[in-house]
Amino acid sequence: MKFCPRCGGLMIPVGKQGDKIILKCTRCGYVEVVDGKQLKDYTLKEETPAEERTITTLKVSEAKKKPPKSLEEWEQEREEYREVLQELLQEELEGGEE
Ligand SMILES: [Zn+2]
Repeated sequence: MKFCPRCGGLMIPVGKQGDKIILKCTRCGYVEVVDGKQLKDYTLKEETPAEERTITTLKVSEAKKKPPKSLEEWEQEREEYREVLQELLQEELEGGEE
């Protein structure tokens, strides 16, 4: 962002003159012609915030920690789960009446 050398107001682009860009003060109307490259450099500085980048990398590493399970693994886990459930049910039925 460019500011007016006269009053310190905000300069906004109002037009182009070849490679140059015409900036005009929103306060006093002071006009300045600047090189288009200057403005390009400025916009380049607006990168993605570092925070956003960290979140993205976190998501990626988290996904790597949990690889998709194979069908066999799923079957085995389900079988184990069923056994545990049955045991729990049995215990509840046997020891439920006191
Ligand atoms: Zn001004």
